[in-house]
Amino acid sequence: MECLLGSLREAGATSGFEILAFEQSKAFGHGPVYATEQTDSNWINISERALDLPPRAALCIGTLQIPPFADYLSWAQLDFDATPPDEIDTFPPRSKIGRYLEERFVSLSTPLIEAGVLHVVNETADKISNDEGHWQVITDSGTKHRVDDLLLAVGHQPTALDDQIKAWNEHATSLSNLVLFKDPYPVEEILEAVRASKTVRMAIRGYGLATMDVVRAVALEFGVFEVVDPSLGTLRYKADDDADVVMVPFSLDGLTMGPKPLNSAMDAQFAPSDETLDLLGDHLSDRNSQEEACGANFLTDVMGRIAATVYLDIENRYDGENVRGQSELEALATNWMADQTYSHPVFLDVTIKPEETLDRLAAMGSGEGAVSFDYCIGQVWRHCQPTIYAALSYSALSDEIMAKIISVDESMKRYAYGPPVASLRQLKALHDAGLLNLKFLGDPSISTDTSCWTLTANGRDFEALMMINAVLDSPKIKSVTANILTSLLKDGLIDPVHDDLGISTREDGYIETADGREDVPIAFLGRLAKGTVIGVDAIKECFGQRVKAWSREAVRKAAPRFNE
Ligand SMILES: Cc1cc2nc3c(=O)[nH]c(=O)nc-3n(C[C@H](O)[C@H](O)[C@H](O)COP(=O)(O)OP(=O)(O)OC[C@H]3O[C@@H](n4cnc5c(N)ncnc54)[C@H](O)[C@@H]3O)c2cc1C
Repeated sequence: MECLLGSLREAGATSGFEILAFEQSKAFGHGPVYATEQTDSNWINISERALDLPPRAALCIGTLQIPPFADYLSWAQLDFDATPPDEIDTFPPRSKIGRYLEERFVSLSTPLIEAGVLHVVNETADKISNDEGHWQVITDSGTKHRVDDLLLAVGHQPTALDDQIKAWNEHATSLSNLVLFKDPYPVEEILEAVRASKTVRMAIRGYGLATMDVVRAVALEFGVFEVVDPSLGTLRYKADDDADVVMVPFSLDGLTMGPKPLNSAMDAQFAPSDETLDLLGDHLSDRNSQEEACGANFLTDVMGRIAATVYLDIENRYDGENVRGQSELEALATNWMADQTYSHPVFLDVTIKPEETLDRLAAMGSGEGAVSFDYCIGQVWRHCQPTIYAALSYSALSDEIMAKIISVDESMKRYAYGPPVASLRQLKALHDAGLLNLKFLGDPSISTDTSCWTLTANGRDFEALMMINAVLDSPKIKSVTANILTSLLKDGLIDPVHDDLGISTREDGYIETADGREDVPIAFLGRLAKGTVIGVDAIKECFGQRVKAWSREAVRKAAPRFNE
């Protein structure tokens, strides 16, 4: 909305426009991901140091006066220029980001609502239809709203239950002693169930950020984390006397997320030079090379090269006594990017105990231990992401290769989108206190009977009374179940780029229909646009170039109706 108003002002519009904003939740302007009332144990995965969300300038559009709003760091009264580089980075609860976004939204929406320019409809937009040449949005209550242009920024959407959850759901619905949570959020619902049972035997499908949120929330319900060594951030967990809790996460590969480096000094060692980033951008955005690309190695080869160079500069690294040369490291990087269980002395051994993995990764992130090449690749990848995303969005790459590249980028998120070191320390402390059992991590077999879910691995069983699905829905448009999208898909108005990906959009965000129609005024921004664009689902993207490109085009199309 800020971008739209900015573009309206640039176009000299003073009247002749109205905005209808549909929001199904109560989280106006920030969405449920950043709900202000959610528990503080739901953490963001970006350090405040990196949360350089830009300010909003004051806007004057005709008689409308929109006040300016501070950038995030000023709002949070943080000044990283004055912060020593060895100070531990902070990762705020998502509710804090929600408060920032909410205040920012209210200061924007109040004058707009008062002027009759903005109408907020607190309902679910259920269907978009075209009635004799007029577009309309129909909400779940059946009300119809005529519109000239539409932007869908619906974020994370529910998808069809997979076979495993479907079967568990049918099973658990008929049995009062078993509880299944098909979604980890809101975590508060899980906490309610946990409070109601004296004995908590919980299995958690997934071993990523959502699992960490759930585990942290449950842990804080039954005890406290105590700092053992403030300089290293090591923790101990002290459970309440009556706590009887065992949580058992599991996933298909059982691999552990790598933490963000502890502070800016640690992080700097993984940052490629500006010159390297420029060269990467030039290489990736070359349209001839994009057309000729025949695999994900279009990206992974160059990333392997950059990561190898960075790794050779790290003093305390794995396999340090055997000096590996640049080309050997590049070849190893290629192997590892294709298969993250690839074994070699430069990589973290995936066969060691998961609790040891937590320690080793936390040590890499905090500078206490040697850095493995895989961890380095992941951190270098994160530093390169803005360049990769800018160069490869709306590229000349074939859909097939784009899908492969998105798949590598997704696999890299285990390291690149990692949690703070503190999350790994908490998991380790909970493991040591006996509340977190990591013995079933890698794809256990799971059976159900009327008394429990039984997880079996390496000759051991764990009987769970509560099952949490902490694997978030994929951005696969064909699996989405929300009416607004299924109806667009059925009407042929949205077109998946690839069977496994999202919606095809032009550079200005407007959707590309399969039959190339030019008269469909529907744009799409965010997670489900993944396909023609890459890297669209992070808070920083909400303030990025794509939104500006959309608002300019939306205003250009509406211009004939202005100032009437
Ligand atoms: C659980 C979770 C945790 C995340 N954590 C992080 C993180 O730590 N860091 C990070 O950078 N990113 C994170 N993300 C990614 C997150 O999606 C983005 O940060 C950001 O919220 C995307 O903004 P958006 O506006 O595209 O979507 P959203 O923030 O999801 O906003 C979409 C809005 O549309 C509303 N809506 C949806 N459908 C309809 C409809 N049919 N009718 C009316 N209203 C509708 C929703 O209620 C919501 O308010 C997380 C995502 C999830 C799901």
